[in-house]
Amino acid sequence: MGLVVDNFPAACLPSAAEALRAPLRAFLTATLGGRPAHERARTWTGFDREFSRKLGEQGWLGITFPREYGGGGMDAFARFVLVEELLAAGAPIAAHWIGDRQSGPLLLRFGTEEQRRVHLPRICRGEVVFCIGMSEPGAGSDLASVRTRATPHAGGWLLNGAKVWTTYGHKSDYMIALVRTSGKPEDRQQGLSQFIIDLRLPGISVRPIALGTGDADFSEFHFEDVRLGADALVGHEGNGWAQVNAELAFERGGPERIYSSLVLLEQWAAQIGDDADDSERLGRLLARLAPLRAMSLSITGSLARGESPITEAALFKDAGTSFEQSVPQLVAESIAAHPERMHAPELLRTLAFLMQLNHVFSLRGGTREILRGMIARGLGLR
Ligand SMILES: Cc1cc2nc3c(=O)[nH]c(=O)nc-3n(C[C@H](O)[C@H](O)[C@H](O)COP(=O)(O)OP(=O)(O)OC[C@H]3O[C@@H](n4cnc5c(N)ncnc54)[C@H](O)[C@@H]3O)c2cc1C
Repeated sequence: MGLVVDNFPAACLPSAAEALRAPLRAFLTATLGGRPAHERARTWTGFDREFSRKLGEQGWLGITFPREYGGGGMDAFARFVLVEELLAAGAPIAAHWIGDRQSGPLLLRFGTEEQRRVHLPRICRGEVVFCIGMSEPGAGSDLASVRTRATPHAGGWLLNGAKVWTTYGHKSDYMIALVRTSGKPEDRQQGLSQFIIDLRLPGISVRPIALGTGDADFSEFHFEDVRLGADALVGHEGNGWAQVNAELAFERGGPERIYSSLVLLEQWAAQIGDDADDSERLGRLLARLAPLRAMSLSITGSLARGESPITEAALFKDAGTSFEQSVPQLVAESIAAHPERMHAPELLRTLAFLMQLNHVFSLRGGTREILRGMIARGLGLR
């Protein structure tokens, strides 16, 4: 109980944020039209630059960034409503997702004025795609052991190494990477820094990696003597670990950690009729969803106050992804219990897609085991 009261103070959506819903819904209905459910089920992994540009034209990218950088000047609650509506509609948001959610806020917090002026307006217009260069072969959960290295060179830096599992890296314009600038991998959190890397630079090679679903969402990068200017450093040299942890709070606390199966849930709920077992299944899911949404809203309140709710975001992500994973399982259970029903082919197609994908929900953004270790440490239990 202490955990809930102290770490998750109740937060309500202000009316200015709620006011965004109606125009957003109208826009999404007009723009997404009749996209089939199995496509909409990709939600934040659906990549469509044109859609992102249209959202930018409406002023709905960088909605929390200051107006002087092309942003909307609104608070984190406005972004909560925006994200909630985009995910509920199954909008393809991957092309702007990383820039809007974490690279832009990271640059706002730690970047130079020049970095903000160059990158933020373009993120707000949906013109640039960012990716996250944290994981490496041999440094996933154990992120502090990264080996990719930038060494001082001719007034800038020389980059060598590799990154892997980079979401949409092969379709991105920039990567913000965590690399070593001093010491050895054994020095762990010491000597790490973040760089913004223009992915067109010579010496960079990239290859897409296909998922089990057939979508090529990931990529693998190799950096060979890539020359970076002094202006590629984000924040302070050696401060990369603290910066990356602040970035991960943006990455873990949002409503995307509960809504990855929402398109399927809605589709299934629409066809269960008055079946008592299915109504009970639906009730169980909704009873879990409501407090999870309240937790995400509470984290949004912390972010709006400028805090960095690292433990809370880890706890929410662990509980939220368990929920997302249970939706396809329960829907499959319901379908198996009713072999006599004619199930809509689109429902089965959406279910098949999510059954193949749902194991990644608890891997991306940090695995369940790692998050639970962080939660235990954050609560002083370890
Ligand atoms: C869909 C998806 C998108 C991703 N996008 C990106 C991206 O854009 N950018 C990026 O940098 N990375 C990305 N990743 C990578 C992701 O962050 C890593 O996969 C994750 O951190 C795990 O690292 P790993 O794959 O090296 O597994 P490992 O670290 O090798 O872990 C393997 C297993 O061992 C467990 N384990 C490891 N260490 C411990 C421990 N100390 N205690 C208990 N259990 C442990 C883990 O929980 C896991 O189950 C993405 C991953 C997925 C699935």
